[in-house]
Amino acid sequence: MNNVNTNVTLSGWVQRSRDLGGMTFIDLRDRYGITQLVFNMDTNAALCKEAREMGREYVVQAEGKVAERSNKNPKIPTGDIEIMVDKLQILNKANTPPFTIEDESDGGDELRMKYRYLDLRRNPLKNNLLLRHKMAFESRNYLNGQGFIEIETPVLIKSTPEGARDFVVPSRVNQGQFYALPQSPQTFKQLLMVAGYDRYMQIVKCFRDEDLRADRQPEFTQIDCEMAFVHQEDILQMFEGLIKHLFQSVKGFMIGDAFPRMTYQEAMNKYGSDKPDVRFGMEFNEITCEIKGRGFGVVDSSEYVGCIVAEDCAGYSRKQIDELTEFVKKPQIGAKGMMYIRYGEDGSLKSSMDKFYSAGDLQKITDKVHARPGDLLLILAGEKIPTKKALCELRLEMGNQLGLRPKDHFKPLWVLDFPLLEWDEETRRFYAMHHPFTSPKPEDIPLLDTDPARVRANAYDCVINGVEVGGGSIRIHDDQLQKKMFRTLGFTDEEAEQQFGFLMSAFRYGAPPHGGIAFGFDRLVSLFAGEDSIRDVIAFPKNNAARDVMADCPSVISDEQLKELSISVKRN
Ligand code: ASP
Repeated sequence: MNNVNTNVTLSGWVQRSRDLGGMTFIDLRDRYGITQLVFNMDTNAALCKEAREMGREYVVQAEGKVAERSNKNPKIPTGDIEIMVDKLQILNKANTPPFTIEDESDGGDELRMKYRYLDLRRNPLKNNLLLRHKMAFESRNYLNGQGFIEIETPVLIKSTPEGARDFVVPSRVNQGQFYALPQSPQTFKQLLMVAGYDRYMQIVKCFRDEDLRADRQPEFTQIDCEMAFVHQEDILQMFEGLIKHLFQSVKGFMIGDAFPRMTYQEAMNKYGSDKPDVRFGMEFNEITCEIKGRGFGVVDSSEYVGCIVAEDCAGYSRKQIDELTEFVKKPQIGAKGMMYIRYGEDGSLKSSMDKFYSAGDLQKITDKVHARPGDLLLILAGEKIPTKKALCELRLEMGNQLGLRPKDHFKPLWVLDFPLLEWDEETRRFYAMHHPFTSPKPEDIPLLDTDPARVRANAYDCVINGVEVGGGSIRIHDDQLQKKMFRTLGFTDEEAEQQFGFLMSAFRYGAPPHGGIAFGFDRLVSLFAGEDSIRDVIAFPKNNAARDVMADCPSVISDEQLKELSISVKRN
């Protein structure tokens, strides 16, 4: 409003134009929003006619006077003013866009990905990229304030196929040899600790050749950090500080309390997940002992029987319960069926297994799980681990149905004490649950020889609303312990030396105790933005088949290029 009567020049895109006979209006869009341009048939007929010719998405420049709008639009920041245009220039014409450039576009996913530069003109994506920028800026701001320095690490590195699959890059200069793209800068940041840079950070691209899901991309970004001379507690404090700073500076709200902490074991027992959504309760209750031994075959042959209590859901209809049963039976969830106990408001108990259980038996179960009249108990049975996983999905589904997972409500927590190792039945060997450089808890080191599965790690995840936003560990900094770890993972000493010799050698030249963490930056931004997919916070993402549909990539390369690399490709 301060600018009324001043002369201005505006450049941007034609969002839409309206021809009202005597007057023509154009909504001009730029990065900052929409401004209304006004053309008057009475004062300048020629210009008004010109304005009528402007198609959607034409790039134009307008000069004119700022005027107060009689008909104000409170929905947009520039809605109080308009520009009485006296000069208009087309900077570039535009084809009619293949979908509408509106907040709610009519374009499907694939089409919008193909014309991503048009999709990026839409407000929802623009706002996400602005948010992303702000979060990157504030992360650097906080970490800089804490004495961290940003150091770049290489993108062409040695392939160490431990963890996910590497993307590989052929070397022309060293024929027949390959680089890998980093799955993370893990070994480099540890080497930087050995080199004496005791607080490192980097907002960095990482590459993993994995199957894709909504929260995965072949290339993604981490806020990668490492500190020397620290214990786990120092790291938790420092990075709890980072997350709180982001909430405050970007979202404008304070999280005063310390993040709750939960051991891995507790998370698995209560929620069947190492990344529990603690916006709501509905914790698991094990009722294996209470329910077994009544001649109900399904239950009697089960290793684990667990239930969740859906408060005030006794009124769920037959149809709703059938739908939940269908939900848990979906192949990706994998339960064989679902049982329930309906605890009526009047205290009556009805179940899907009345044949086997008396009212007294059912009462014992409802007492054990502290259910109240009006509640609905949902029960799954089977092998322990898969059943807990299914119960976890059922809990989240009930959370959705009951509106207990609002996107603007954030509940961070730390999950601690992860197991160091994970047994893989197929290859019959242990894998590092985090990565091979994670330190076992000192008191558990003897178990490495006797019962490796029970060794706990000094490893931690930061979880918000059921999303693992970050993870890290205190590292091994002793070459002998690192060697032992590789042996436990089934490496011969020669293999370990060949792949990780550079790191173990560094440990022999004065390696400080160190540890760190990396946050999945895309996930963190999508969580702040309230988006379900990280694609919506990445300017140029890949699709579900790992393709860039805009540039049509990956693509074949020329025979000439292949020859230079001495690579021959079997073409089907
Ligand atoms: N490099 C690890 C990862 O990408 C994070 C860490 O341990 O700092 O998961």
